Amino acid sequence: MIYTTDAIVLNNRKYSDSSLICNLYSKDYGKLSIIAKGVRKVKNLNGAILQPLNHINLVYYFKSKRNIQTYKEASIIKKYDDISKNYNKILISSVILDMINYSSIEDNPCDIIFRLTNKTLDKINSSESTNIFYYFIFFNIQLLIYLGYKPLIKRCYKCSKTLDNASFNDKSGQLECTSCCSSNIKLNANSIQLINKFFNTHIDKINTHFNLDNGTLNNIKKYFFHYILHHITNMKKSKAYINFNKKYDSI
Ligand SMILES: [Zn+2]
Repeated sequence: MIYTTDAIVLNNRKYSDSSLICNLYSKDYGKLSIIAKGVRKVKNLNGAILQPLNHINLVYYFKSKRNIQTYKEASIIKKYDDISKNYNKILISSVILDMINYSSIEDNPCDIIFRLTNKTLDKINSSESTNIFYYFIFFNIQLLIYLGYKPLIKRCYKCSKTLDNASFNDKSGQLECTSCCSSNIKLNANSIQLINKFFNTHIDKINTHFNLDNGTLNNIKKYFFHYILHHITNMKKSKAYINFNKKYDSI
């Protein structure tokens, strides 16, 4: 059967002399792997289409017994040209692609996550590089919500007291008040308020609503790093994700 769907190329790897194997996140079928034969040959333009970050319209041959489907053809819907010109934009976008790759399972489409990913990459592509971390935090929160791991930030997980200063408890995977838990992953009242604001702000309003100092931003990133590793354990396999977050972890 021939299937057609919009998809984002997550990654690719060389296979044999001239082929590519790609992981994609598709609008209609969720994550999928395809083999594109012969696309690395000179003059074959398909190799350029199947590069990470590209938003494409994909046509492929589907067989239910196969883990890897067979590429037929594709066309580019959108390329994120400005991302490729900025190191931090490249870094964050690769982390986002890896987060989709490691948090999704095959044959499990989610239109909202597909749109969230596209919209976030759009924003990172077009925004000032100082704002891209806000879009990254927004992406973290929304992805967690749609995967069913919405963080609890209002009350202590253990004693239900309203949180002002909190510590992340790696055993419960939740925030607790300073009487119940003391860890080196801390959020102060200001950070908790800001996270709450991220929950309630539309992505189009983000650059006008947030102006975080580096210390606060790093604490928030560190919290999400540990929260995500606890709840989406598959993320431990992503080198891009672990390396990206390591530097905040040592603070
Ligand atoms: Zn407590």
